[in-house]
Amino acid sequence: MSESTEMQIQPGTQTDVPASDGIDRRGFLKCMAWAGTGLVWTFAGGVPTSRVFGEPMKPSAQSDFTFVQISDSHIGFNKPANADVTATLQAALSRIDAAPGAPDFLIHTGDLTHSSKPAEFDTLDQILTSHRQVLYVPGEHDTSVDDGKIYLERYGKGTKGSGWYSFDHKGVHFIGLVNVVQLEGMGKLGQAQLAWLKQDLHNVKSSVPIVLFAHIPLWAVYPEWGWGTSDSEQAFAMLKRFGSVTVLNGHIHQVMQKVEGQVVFHTAMSTAFPQPAPGSAPSPGPMKVPADRLQNVLGITNVSFVAQRRELAIVDATLSGTTAEHRETPA
Ligand SMILES: [Zn+2]
Repeated sequence: MSESTEMQIQPGTQTDVPASDGIDRRGFLKCMAWAGTGLVWTFAGGVPTSRVFGEPMKPSAQSDFTFVQISDSHIGFNKPANADVTATLQAALSRIDAAPGAPDFLIHTGDLTHSSKPAEFDTLDQILTSHRQVLYVPGEHDTSVDDGKIYLERYGKGTKGSGWYSFDHKGVHFIGLVNVVQLEGMGKLGQAQLAWLKQDLHNVKSSVPIVLFAHIPLWAVYPEWGWGTSDSEQAFAMLKRFGSVTVLNGHIHQVMQKVEGQVVFHTAMSTAFPQPAPGSAPSPGPMKVPADRLQNVLGITNVSFVAQRRELAIVDATLSGTTAEHRETPA
């Protein structure tokens, strides 16, 4: 975990920063348009949607750093929805390597494996950790077999409880949360983790951008399918005073986003297989698409940060190089 970094606030940039109360969302979103030529933000019901023309993966020259979120690798899965999840994870990494400007690190938002088997973790490690820094949180597929014992042995060094932690990087405070251990239909953080979070945020200034990441969505994407976290409101009550909060989740294997006040919620695609849109099938689960379409529904999420504006821009790219379809959370 890196040392705490103090944010350099430039005189005159204060007006670019959304206030934590009475935020002008449109003004805020205009600020997000920095992200370079070819990236266009459109607005649908207050939700920012990014589209990239030309080179989807090119990080902005103006960004201070970028990181990449990958999710739901499900190493060990071998059903018709994707008979070679190792190959598609490798394809995702090739995309990242092919982009100009290396990300500072990767975040994996869980379901590293399909069945928590040591051999599955071994395969993931061979592909991922040999040549880059990766920060993890577990998915329920990584913890449900053995209560997360193997996961914690391998990836839990320096973490608390079932694997939660925080770190600072170039003026941004990152918090990795675990909401897959006390599953009760939906995800749950639990009192011990919430108490730790309160303590963790205590010394963080309200002007510091927060990036929160966890496996199951931390907002009510579709509670009927368990796509939400039952006690996440308690966490967001603690985050109210912060001017910029970005929430990155996985688990649902598709891009969904929502803006609520100063909080941007976003889920990433899987590198393994897609799932149906909320309510569009009898139940969630692996969705088989025609083989030539699979690369269009798997992908990664690039996040760029500009310190002066204290803004994060999120761009989703599929394995085939197109920009991902974006969906709003259903009402
Ligand atoms: Zn999951």
